[in-house]
Order: sequence, then C-alpha cells, then structure tokens
Amino acid sequence: MNKNNKTVLVTGGSRGIGKAISKTFAKDGYNVLINFNKSENEAKELYTVLNEKGFSVKLFKANISNREEVENMIDYCIKEFGGLDVLINNAGISQDKLFTDITDEDWDNMMNINLKGSFYCSQTALKYMISEKKGNIINISSIWGISGASCEVHYSISKAGIIGMTKALAKEVAPSNIRVNSIAPGVIDTDMLAEYNEDEIDVLVEETPLMRLGTPEDIANCAIFLASDKSSFITGQVISPNGGFVI
Ligand code: NAP
Repeated sequence: MNKNNKTVLVTGGSRGIGKAISKTFAKDGYNVLINFNKSENEAKELYTVLNEKGFSVKLFKANISNREEVENMIDYCIKEFGGLDVLINNAGISQDKLFTDITDEDWDNMMNINLKGSFYCSQTALKYMISEKKGNIINISSIWGISGASCEVHYSISKAGIIGMTKALAKEVAPSNIRVNSIAPGVIDTDMLAEYNEDEIDVLVEETPLMRLGTPEDIANCAIFLASDKSSFITGQVISPNGGFVI
C-alpha cells in the first residue's frame, strides 16, 4: 500500500470492463480495491498478476445489492488504503427477454444489482467523501440507457436510472468538491455479449460506424480521464465511447 497514492474502488473489478479499469488504475499508481462477487478465481488471478508487478491492489468479496456487505467493503477500503478517492460503479448484469416475459424476480434482480447496488455504493462512499470534501464517482451506464434496447427494457431502464442518478447527484455533491459522471459504453467485447450468437455480433459491428466492437480498455481509458484532474470541470455528464453507434 502507498498512502500517498489515490485509492479507487472498482465494483465488479475482476472481469470484463471492470478488469481493464482495475489494471489501468493500478498501472497509473492508484491503490485499487477490486470488488468481486462470484468470480473468486478470476479475482485471485488478477490480484496475483498485478501484485507481482508491484502494484498496490487488494480484493474484497461483496454482493453490491447487499447494504451491509457494501458498508463492510467501504470500511475495509478506508482502513486498508487510508481513504477512498474514486468509486467506479461498474458491476452489472444484463438479460435478454421480451418485455411481456419479464417476471417480478427478473425485474427485482436487475434493479437490485444495477441500480440499488450503485445507490448503496455511492451513498456509503459519499458519507466519507463529503467529510473529506473531495471525491469522484464514475457510474457505468450503457448506450441502451440513452437510446433503449428492444428485448432489454428492464436493463435499459436500470441504465437510464444510472444516468438520472449521475445528473442529480452531481448537482447535490458538487459543493462538496465531488464530481459524478457516467460512461455509457457501446458494444464492448466481454462475457456480457455471450447471450448473442455470431450473426448477431456481426450485425452489431455493422451498426457501429467505426466497424468494430469496443474493447474494455476503450472504457478504462475514459474512466482514467474522468478520474483525473484533466477533467476537473466535468461533472454530471454522460460520455459514450460507442464507435458512433449512438450519436
Ligand atoms: P461482465 O463481463 O459480465 O462483468 C460483470 C461484472 O459485474 C462482473 O465482474 C461481476 O462480478 C459483476 N457483478 C455482477 N453482479 C454483481 C453483484 N451482485 N455484486 C458485485 N459484482 C457483481 O460485463 P461487462 O461487460 O464487463 O459489464 C460491466 C459494466 O458495463 C456493466 O454495468 C454493464 O452493464 C456495462 N456495459 C457493458 C457493455 C458491453 O457491451 N459489455 C455495454 C454497455 C455497458 P462477479 O462475476 O464476481 O459476480
């Protein structure tokens, strides 16, 4: 641990976009608390790789839809690293389903993880950040939260909610010197695309003017910018690295 370094907490930080964010921030000199829930093996593997390179990283298992687990995670972060400068609400789930087939359980699961999880993490982190009079929150939304996705209505609602939370919270906490922004990725090559077959992926690539899938690093590069002083006048904004898919 380097107490002079800034500290970031990345939810869902062991896989996909979260993994790229964890690696990018570790390389940039941050202390990184990598949250995982189910992917213990991936988390341990990532920890080993980053730790062997001499980076300052720790792991914490927590289900972000459980308030007590989130509070324990943020307590641990502050105790182990001496603070919390940047929270990245990245963890999320998706589900491909006709609107008329969505069950109460599907709906609750989607909202509990994608929306309530970000609420718990942000609220708990802010209790600390407000007292410090500094902080930075980055919420991972989606292009579908902007433009809506057929057969992913509950997912789209949760991601639109993230954008609403970003804008409202940015106004509320700006006087405490805390910035809140959102990244709304386009189609990014992670396990989340497993639901799509090859033809569907080809269509998504064709619909992307830059003619490729995004990489997790495309999103991590945006996150490191939003966490840095180079974006110090940016708050309440939605930045959408999407290859031109939604303009
Ligand atoms: P992914 O590879 O499926 O990873 C999802 C991550 O979320 C995993 O690390 C997972 O951790 C974590 N997670 C899920 N439920 C959790 C819970 N209850 N508590 C803690 N962590 C939980 O997906 P991804 O593509 O990297 O997605 C990351 C974020 O980007 C999501 O918010 C997603 O909606 C958003 N996004 C993705 C795309 C895309 O095309 N891939 C596009 C737009 C937005 P465990 O495995 O440990 O449970």
